[in-house]
Amino acid sequence: MTSREIKKQKTTASLTAFLPTGFEEMVADLLFSTPVKFKIVPPRSTKLGDFRASFNGDKHQITVNGDLNKYSFLITTLHEFAHLQTFNEYGSTVKPHGEEWKRTFRKLLVPAIDTGLLPVDIQNALVNSLTNTKASSCSDIQLSRVLKRYDEQDTGMVLLESLPKNSTFALQGKQFLKGDLRRRRYVCEDMSNSKKYLVHALSEVIPLKNE
Ligand SMILES: [Zn+2]
Repeated sequence: MTSREIKKQKTTASLTAFLPTGFEEMVADLLFSTPVKFKIVPPRSTKLGDFRASFNGDKHQITVNGDLNKYSFLITTLHEFAHLQTFNEYGSTVKPHGEEWKRTFRKLLVPAIDTGLLPVDIQNALVNSLTNTKASSCSDIQLSRVLKRYDEQDTGMVLLESLPKNSTFALQGKQFLKGDLRRRRYVCEDMSNSKKYLVHALSEVIPLKNE
């Protein structure tokens, strides 16, 4: 195996945590098809990803937020790749989400849709966004709404160790008051009967509002 093939295999493996199953190779192929710095970055509230054209001989750069759900990560990656490919073909002479970009995005999306591995609602939203005559923007509202359905539900759970002393929290249907640390466990008082329990610092608990 050449070092490039080994590198590609590693990239493919590292993508499994971020992409829906079955799309790792498709994205790795893209990453290796053209010089690009692809960075998975801490979440930014203002954008899901971005493309920056190289300006001093560096590689082009694509960043994607690392906290996106797998489908959103895939679509965002393809969206930014469409910017890269459009830039390589037309430079900065065309609109960011104009006809050229749409055509390029479509070329990237069709094989993804054709895998049949995407949920039907996402498939439909993608087809809609492709046939929509209005220029798509970075945030296609209808598509984002569908993709949001796949965000993990926020459970409201936190680690016990992250709560301040004397906080109240719920665990297994009971309410407790957090006390002192003993080794790796906190002494916690069951608020219904004042009994003391040792609860592990890394237990996931639901914080309650202190009156
Ligand atoms: Zn865009």
